[in-house]
Parts: sequence; C-alpha cells; structure tokens
Amino acid sequence: MTKILNNLEPKRVFEIFEELCAIPHGSKNTDAISEYCVNFAKEHQLSWTKDSHNNVVIKKCASKGYEDHPGVIIQGHLDMVCEKTPESAHDFQKDGLQLCVENGFVHAKDTTLGGDDGIAVAYALAILEDESIQHPAMEAVFTVDEEIGMLGADAMDMSGLNGRYLLNIDSEEEGVFLTSCAGGLSVDIKIPVTFEEITDDVKECEIEITGLLGGHSGTEIIRGRANAHKLLGRLLLLLNGCVRYGISEITGGSKDNAIACNVKIKAFVVKEDISTLMEVAEELNQDLLTEYRGCDDGIQIQITQNEKTSGRMISSKAKEILTFLLVNAPNGVMKMSSEMEGLVETSLNCGILNLKEDAIRIGFSVRSSVESAKWALYEQLEYLAEFLGCECSFTGNYPGWQYRADSRLRNIMLEVYEEQYGEKPEITAIHAGLECGIFADRLGEIDIVSYGPDILDIHTVKERLDIASVERVWKFTLEVLKRL
Ligand SMILES: [Zn+2]
Repeated sequence: MTKILNNLEPKRVFEIFEELCAIPHGSKNTDAISEYCVNFAKEHQLSWTKDSHNNVVIKKCASKGYEDHPGVIIQGHLDMVCEKTPESAHDFQKDGLQLCVENGFVHAKDTTLGGDDGIAVAYALAILEDESIQHPAMEAVFTVDEEIGMLGADAMDMSGLNGRYLLNIDSEEEGVFLTSCAGGLSVDIKIPVTFEEITDDVKECEIEITGLLGGHSGTEIIRGRANAHKLLGRLLLLLNGCVRYGISEITGGSKDNAIACNVKIKAFVVKEDISTLMEVAEELNQDLLTEYRGCDDGIQIQITQNEKTSGRMISSKAKEILTFLLVNAPNGVMKMSSEMEGLVETSLNCGILNLKEDAIRIGFSVRSSVESAKWALYEQLEYLAEFLGCECSFTGNYPGWQYRADSRLRNIMLEVYEEQYGEKPEITAIHAGLECGIFADRLGEIDIVSYGPDILDIHTVKERLDIASVERVWKFTLEVLKRL
C-alpha cells in the first residue's frame, strides 16, 4: 500500500493514524481496530486488557524520575461515524479509507475521516512506543461506540484504572479546553387515552404549527427558540371554552433531543366554531411572531379544513390532561451556570409528541452538568405526570461532569499553552454529553480536561484534520506530560 501521510509531522502519529484508517472501524465494528491496539501493546511489551465490548487499556510505567508522580490517563474512542457521499461505493464494513492530503488538511475521499477520534488513538500509541518521552505512569484508554451513545465507556469496568489525571483527546477545536459537560436522560410521559365517537355536527380540521427553526437541544437550547409542542399547548388553552373540538391524531417530533420545529393535530371541530378557531389561531400567530422576533421569525399556524365529518376522538379527559401538560411542563433553559459565563447548566426540551394506539407520548431530553439538578428536574416531571394519572419513566441516563474549581491539570495546561502559543486558551464547557462525564462519575477524584487538534466538519464527508494543528497539539501534549 502506498503511504499517503508518511511525509507529515509528527511522523509516527501520522503513520499510526494511516494504519488506523486502513482498518474499518465504524461504531459496532470495532473487533479489528481493538485487536490492532492489542497487537501494538504486545509488540511493545506493554501490559494491556481488552474487555468483551472491545474497550482496550494499555499501561506503561512512569519514565525515570516520574515514578512517584500520580498517573495520567490518555483517552479517546476507537469508533468513528460512517458517512459517505451518495455516489460513493465505499463499504464501511470492509474497505479502508482513501486518504488525501490537500491544502494542509488530511481528509478521506467521499467519506468521513474518523479524525474524530482516531487522532487520539494515534497520539496515545505514539507516546506509548517512544522511550524518550517523559511522563508519569500512563494508561491509554480506548473506548468503543462513543458515537452511538457512549456505550463502551458506559459498560467499562474502570476499577483497574489508577491515573489521577485524564486527558480526553476528543474535542475538535485547538485552543479550546473543555472542563465540564452535561449529563442527561430521556423522559417519556404516557397519557392514557380512550376514544369517543363524535355526535356533534363537525368537520375535520388539521391544525399545523410549522416554520420554526428547531435545532439540537443541547447546543441550541440557549437561543430561546420556540418549541412547536409548547406553542400547541398555548393554542389548546386558548381554545378552551370557545371552540368545541375533539382531537383524533397528533404527530409531533420523534427525537427528544431535537427542538420541536413542527407539530400537526387533526381535530373534529363543531362547524359553527370553525371561524372562531381560525380567528384564535391567527391572533396567536401574530402574537408569537412579535414575541419571537429576531429568534424564530417563521412561525406559522395553519388550519386546513377537510371533508371528513365523522370519526373518533380522544376523550375530553385526555384532551384536558394533554393541554395541561403542554402548558405547564417546564421547557427550555432552567438555569445558567454561575461559574462559566454563557453556559447552560440545566435545561430540558420537549421533543416528542404523538398519539399512538392507546396513549399520547410526550418525550423530553433533560440535561444538566449538575447531577442533583438533573434528577430534581426529572422528579418534577414525574410528579407532574403522576399527579395527572400519567405514567412517567426515563431511559438513556448518562452522568454529567461538573466544573472543578481547583484543577492542577487545567493549570498546567494553561501554563504550557500560554508559553507555546503566546495567548490564553479558551476554557469552556458544553451542554451535551461527553465520555468525560462517565469517567468523572466512576473515577471520583479524577482531574479531567478535554482538548484536541482542529478537525473541521466532523461526522460529515467533509471531515478534515488540520496537519499543522496536529503537530502543535502533539508538542503541547508532550510538554504537559512532562510537567505532570
Ligand atoms: Zn468523538
């Protein structure tokens, strides 16, 4: 195989990275890459463990003079997101990536590159094999299936890890150090539904709320955009007492972590009340456009009349509970961090709303970097739901990583960064989950920072790794290890 990256520096980092790219390693397809890491350890007489999930740990003793320093963990994930262009014939199960070097970047032809997070693995292995690098006792920890819910880290037995510092090399912006992340869970509220036949003189109407911007419930929740489900609640409350109607269908979003950008219900409306429905909807639409001016300018409430004049609708009790829940369930930013400016500490998003068979389901994504706040918000929803006779449950719980006021690792990284770059790095946090949350939760006193070289457009076919950035971050990492 012709080597594409062998003229790049740091040489070994890119050589190893190229070997990793030759091994298919999408999430859930990590046998081979995991085995590669094990073989690497064997070749270099390093102790290693591999668990049944394919998580790999490789340990290396402290260099001379560092024997009594607390150990360091270097961590990244083995799996990558597999995306390709519609034309591409690439088979992620068996083909290696076709690497290209262009304009100072490494990318892969027609596919994602897996710089996220292959570069962490390449850095760690390059450190493990180099006897001239100074560092305390080191553990390279490679997890699997990070990209599909951090499954590897979640399933990992961490009791054998001794490091007191953890360098998570899974951030994609050079000069930005992440120091906290959110924990989260998905909440599912089920309103039991019975149906009634319609006896009034009615017509079926579709009520649709569209044109909202939506967005990711972690990164975009801070923008204060409208949530279609909450707007629907507001409309239903306004209809109480002035429009006689029954709901027959509800179709809202299907992902709890996407800000709801549209929702549609079908309702049987008493014919003589249809004009009132139109007026109320129009008036609300105007109010909303004023309220959300500059942040969600396209909100539209549309009413369409269908020919249908009979059918079944949910009981008035279920309709009442739905209205109450949509109006009163909390949504959006609950608290901003008082330690980090501009960081959302606790939030929730009502992303799912639909009527299926015998229940209306309302799904929320709850996030907080403070564990107790996350659970308090869950309990608030649970209390609200159960008070109304609904079921409430959660899935997909993952822990948060709270900002550490006192961090020796962060201080050393700050110091080295300023020396090497002549400026201060950005210290920040994200309102989304990272594997760091799981390590922080399991390893207690561990001191963690997440960082990495510039990788642009991750998770897309345009993903590309900045070569010069890889070299700077390599030098930076070596100096940090030396001072630990
Ligand atoms: Zn990643």
